[in-house]
Amino acid sequence: MTKSQKNTLKNKLETRPPVVVVLGHVDHGKTSILDYIKKTKVTAKEAGGITQHIGAYQIETAEGKKITFIDTPGHEAFSAMRSRGARVADIAILVVAADEGIKPQTKEAISHIKKAGLSYLVAFNKIDKPEANPERIKQALAENEVFLESYGGQIPSVNVSAKTGQGIDDLLEMILLLAEMEELTYNPAAPASGVVIESNLDARKGVTATLLVKEGALKTKDAIATESTFGPVKNIKTWQGENLSEAAASTPIEVIGLVGVPFVGETWQVEKNIEEAEKKSARKKEIEEPKRKHLEVVNLEEGQKILNIILKADAIGTLEAIRQSLEAIGQEKVVLRIIEESTGEISDHDIQLASSAGAPIFSFRVKLKSALQDLVEREGVKIKSFEIIYELIQSVREGMGELLDPEILKNKLGEMEILAIFKIDGRKKIIGGRVRDGLIQRGAKVDIFRDGEYIGDGRITQLQHDKKDIAEVGKGKECGLLVESDQEIKIGDTLENYKEEKRKQTL
Ligand code: GDP
Repeated sequence: MTKSQKNTLKNKLETRPPVVVVLGHVDHGKTSILDYIKKTKVTAKEAGGITQHIGAYQIETAEGKKITFIDTPGHEAFSAMRSRGARVADIAILVVAADEGIKPQTKEAISHIKKAGLSYLVAFNKIDKPEANPERIKQALAENEVFLESYGGQIPSVNVSAKTGQGIDDLLEMILLLAEMEELTYNPAAPASGVVIESNLDARKGVTATLLVKEGALKTKDAIATESTFGPVKNIKTWQGENLSEAAASTPIEVIGLVGVPFVGETWQVEKNIEEAEKKSARKKEIEEPKRKHLEVVNLEEGQKILNIILKADAIGTLEAIRQSLEAIGQEKVVLRIIEESTGEISDHDIQLASSAGAPIFSFRVKLKSALQDLVEREGVKIKSFEIIYELIQSVREGMGELLDPEILKNKLGEMEILAIFKIDGRKKIIGGRVRDGLIQRGAKVDIFRDGEYIGDGRITQLQHDKKDIAEVGKGKECGLLVESDQEIKIGDTLENYKEEKRKQTL
């Protein structure tokens, strides 16, 4: 490219609004913050219109500055998008509840943000609560390599309350400041391209997809190709239901016209015509498809268990997000196989499949028709329903954990030295000795040692002290005992007796 060409291109660049993702631990208030902003910062002319959840929305501040928020369920969806290599967001808000502090998902979020190289700020939420204490959390953040401005670092932070609205304006101002530093631009003349944020199969509308425009401007009648599907852009709508003929970069839009349901995080771009779009998507599909199927073929190694499940979710985007999180669970001991996944209500097909495969159904924001309740009971199918992705993932993890055989721990009770052998009758050995340490208990299992080396095991079935049957004998005392063991026992051997404890293994 010549210098003059470069200059012409540069001249064409225009500023675009920042795309913001909200990350943090469950229940720290991500949804509440997103909802508060959505409700209070809608531009006057659009206020009162019918808004809908399309997975992203855009607001305009009093100064006329726009900000786009990704409004998908938590960081699971974000990570699905990230793993596809699509850098969706420009800026992240790390939400930390000021009354709680850093939690496991806060750490995960920090790691996501750092890996994606996102510019970010920290929002200490629930500042209205009397127990809120952001100062206490700042040190802990520093330990996790989040160095706040107020702590000598460069990461801005704001105290907010999604309940009272305190600090929300500061939060928006801070986002715009970060956006300015990032110098976010796009070329309106470039062919449009972007990322799929959400997708759904609607009985009335057909395939609807929420797209985020990242470059250029998408127009109606454009032909687009995603990695798995394609189609003409028949209609473009904003999240407030307004029809658009053209959508510029950073605008989230709902598009109708795709022939198939794309996955969340797929990239899309405008092609010359519909034939070209079909060709491109078919080629990409060939590359993408094998990656998705890898859970279906399972070669179990010895000792490995398998948990079969059926997944149901309200939207393709969530389904994808859930699967991505499930795939991240370690599968060394238990392999997780999703035998079928789909969106929409739980159907009788799902129940029949669950029954024949002995697989529970994990459902996310999906209902079961009351007419099917009988079938579920008759087939003995387990359905676990969730409203929070994190909880669904935890439940699958627990299900996998339950398949593991418990670990058997030996808790040593005591040891004794064998001083006499009285009678041997096959496995039954009547012997005598002195308790060297701890105590010896009737019924306990024993390990037998000779010259410090393990030689065999057995069980104490009778125990006597001073010719009387007793339950246990303590340190320093002598006793007679009946031990059942296949191992030959000699004078001078050591018996260690122990109690077994079963402990649940974790993945
Ligand atoms: P998410 O899981 O991070 O999306 O968290 P939610 O937005 O669902 O919030 C979890 C809970 O905290 C809900 O019961 C909210 O009502 C509550 N909550 C969220 N923000 C605030 C806040 O600023 N102040 C108070 N007092 N409660 C809040």
